This record gives sequence, C-alpha cells and structure tokens, in this order.
Amino acid sequence: MKYISTRGNAPELNFEQVLLTGLATDGGLYVPASLPEFSADQISGWAGLAYHELAFEIVSPFVGDCIPEDDLRAILAETYKDFAHPAIAPLIQLDRNEWILELFQGPTLAFKDFALQLLGRLLDYFLKKRNQRVVIMGATSGDTGSAAIEGCRRCDNIDIFILHPNNRVSEVQRRQMTTVLEDNVYNIAIEGNFDDCQDIVKASFRDQSFLPEGMQLVAVNSINWARIMAQIVYYFYAGLSLGSPAKEMAFSVPTGNFGDIFAGYLAKKMGLPISQLVIATNKNNVLHRVMTDSVYSRTALHQTLSPSMDISVSSNFERLLFDLYNRDGDCIRNMMEVFNSEAIELNDDAMASARELFSSASIDDTATCDIISKTFNDIGYMLDPHSATGVGAGRLCNRNPEQPMVVLATAHPAKFPDAIEQSNIGVQATIPPHLGDLFEREERFTVLPCDRAVVNTFMFDQL
Ligand SMILES: *Cc1c(COP(=O)(O)O)cnc(C)c1O
Repeated sequence: MKYISTRGNAPELNFEQVLLTGLATDGGLYVPASLPEFSADQISGWAGLAYHELAFEIVSPFVGDCIPEDDLRAILAETYKDFAHPAIAPLIQLDRNEWILELFQGPTLAFKDFALQLLGRLLDYFLKKRNQRVVIMGATSGDTGSAAIEGCRRCDNIDIFILHPNNRVSEVQRRQMTTVLEDNVYNIAIEGNFDDCQDIVKASFRDQSFLPEGMQLVAVNSINWARIMAQIVYYFYAGLSLGSPAKEMAFSVPTGNFGDIFAGYLAKKMGLPISQLVIATNKNNVLHRVMTDSVYSRTALHQTLSPSMDISVSSNFERLLFDLYNRDGDCIRNMMEVFNSEAIELNDDAMASARELFSSASIDDTATCDIISKTFNDIGYMLDPHSATGVGAGRLCNRNPEQPMVVLATAHPAKFPDAIEQSNIGVQATIPPHLGDLFEREERFTVLPCDRAVVNTFMFDQL
C-alpha cells in the first residue's frame, strides 16, 4: 500500500514511513493511494470475530508487507487487551432504532485510546527493528494528551513531551497525564492557552535543529494516518453487530478535527453499507456551516461543555476535500493556500456529493444538558457531553427512522463532571475502578513560559 499527499507534491510513502511522518513535505495530509474494498460475502464472514481479529482483517491491507502477519496479529491482540469491557466497543440500546457505541472503555476513557494504544505499539515495533529513538511532541486541550501518554509510556524507544495549557484543562484530564511517572514521559504546562501550545509544537516540527543529533519528532494528532486507520475498525464492528452487510445503517459522530467521522466515510467506501453520516458539532460549528452554506470559513473559538470539539478549523476535512475534488492535489494546494487568509466557497459538484452521505447539526450547551438529563431520567443512562451532541444531531438529521442510528459515545461522563453537574440530574458520574485512586496519585509536570526556545531547551536537556 502506498500513501500520497492531498496536495499532490510530496514523495509517496509506505505504511512504516507514513507512521513516522506528520504533515507531508508539501503541507498536505497523507491518504492511501487506493482503498481496499470488501465484498458483502467477505464482510459477513467476519461476523462473530473478536475485536482484535476483525481489526486484523481491516488493518492488514493498509499495513501491506511492512509487518509480517503473525507480528501484526500479536500487536493487535496486545493493543485491546486492557480495555475494561470484554466487548471492547459495546453497543447500548437507547431506543428502538437508536444505539450508543461506547468507545470509552480504554485506559483513558475516550475513543482516542482505540488509535493511540495501537500507534504506540506500532511505533515501538518499527523503532526496535530500526534501532532508532524518536521524540513525540504534541499539544492537548485534554483527551489526546492522556491517550498518547498512555499509548507510549511503555515504549522503550520513545520519549514523549505533551504540552497543555496551565490551569486550563480539567483536573481529571490533567491528572490522567501528570500521574504517569515513567522516565520517558514529560508533561509541560505552558503559561498560555491551547493555541499557544499548538503554535510551539508546530514551530518545533518546522525546525527540529534543537534536537540531539539523529533524533526526529513524530506527530500523534489525527494528521497521523495510523490513527484514522485504527478507527475504521469500530464502524465495521458495530455494523456487523447490528446486521450489516445485509442491513444499512446511519452513524452520528461528535466531531472536532473530522478524524473520527472520516474513518466512517472510509468504512463506507470499503464496503460497509452506511446510508448516512451525521456530523455533530457544538457551538464551534465550522463543519455545520460548510454543509449549510458551502463556505469553509474560520470564526472565533467558543468554550463549550464539550471541549474536545472546540476547534475553529478541522484539519482532516482536507482529506475529504481531496476526494470531493477528484483527488486533484494541485487544486487542493491552491484552495488551502487561499484558506490560510480567507474563506473559500466549495463548488456545487463537491457539495452535492458531500450532502449525499453527510448531514450536520450544531448542538449548543443548553441542548446538550437537556439531552443528558432527559436520557438519564428516561432510561438511567448517563451520556458525556460530547456523546450527547451526537445523540442530538442524530435525532435532528435522521433520514430514515426505520434504520439503526448508531451514535458514537466518544468519552466517559466522569471526564466531564461540570457538564454532568449542569445537567441537574442529581448524581455525579463515577470514575471507573481502574482510575479510582486518580486523585491520590503523585503528579509530575513542569510549568514553562509560553516561549518556544525555553521549551526546546528543556526538551534537549531531558534527552
Ligand atoms: C477528540 C474528541 C472528539 C473529536 O474527534 P475528531 O476525530 O477530532 O473529530 C470528540 N469527542 C471526544 C471526547 C474527543 O476526545
């Protein structure tokens, strides 16, 4: 399998290379040159497979000959073995045709574990073979940081530096990162906001000369192709559980950077009969605005009760645009250059094909809390605020109530106690047993000024 850039002007890479690369050299994102397609017979033959076995069937065409079959099977079995629920991604029924796919049974209670548990192991596998060390650097507003740290804490050939805005992530989120005390894990609290953290990370990737000789930075945000790949699996898993490929179904996906829902789009192209994908956004509705007005434009960022969806631009949307514009890299490069300084209007053909599959809604904090409290009062099920936007958007956009609507539950409610509190349901979300002592654990992190040079010097001194 070869990977190409959405901007058409970077070297083709294989899976191993794409895993170790962030953005392409032309500023684009890597996508597979072609997608594997599975027949209905093939897909129905996977019914009843354990999660990691299904993962092997779906992931192996993307990995190609970069990892021998037995090694890949072993990595995948290892990846999902510590999830708290034996089904890995259990389905919960909310209504006759409405389902919740719980993607928060991993170690950090958010869906990002599905990809980052695998990413850490894949990196470690290749780095050992190459006898190489790399440095992971990332910025987090909450969930990515803890999932990345958890995925890499036991990797011998990785040092990981995660920047978070000092005093601006929730205590649960901070402690999930800062109580990991392995020697290769460095938490840096920046005196600034999330954008400041991201700017330092981006600048460090552009000029890596501060690193010791022979070292390179690796990205763990969802521009990394391997993250998208890992997320395709649970769409098939849910589909098979609810009667696919014989049955069509819809998915509603709480969306920030468009990574998770893009995986659903790929699942459809690979043969899963998905009739509709609902883009659930909060007040930060850049994607809802594109779907409604055909104009892709930035606006100011709002703080909401679903902070992991608080973004002003969705980086992975470029991967969809590439397909919508017939994989014309030159065209995407020009569009993205314009988008750096102004809004862009998408053409009618592109929007018509986007609207065939995707619909969208923007769910504000009031509606989010209403959904949390109504669901709890009706059936005793506690949604987290991100998942609640998925439920809300799924209901608003549903094109066929006779088909199953699967809402991806992206986080456990205990991660977002403020939203649960504001929903007035009279109970708190309880932290699952494996994290029960989170508030007693020792923390370790370093507060640094919002200054790229200071951060880079700190990193060099630790390496
Ligand atoms: C990251 C995250 C999202 C958004 O996922 P994208 O792939 O960026 O669209 C939604 N919900 C939660 C809880 C998250 O952590």
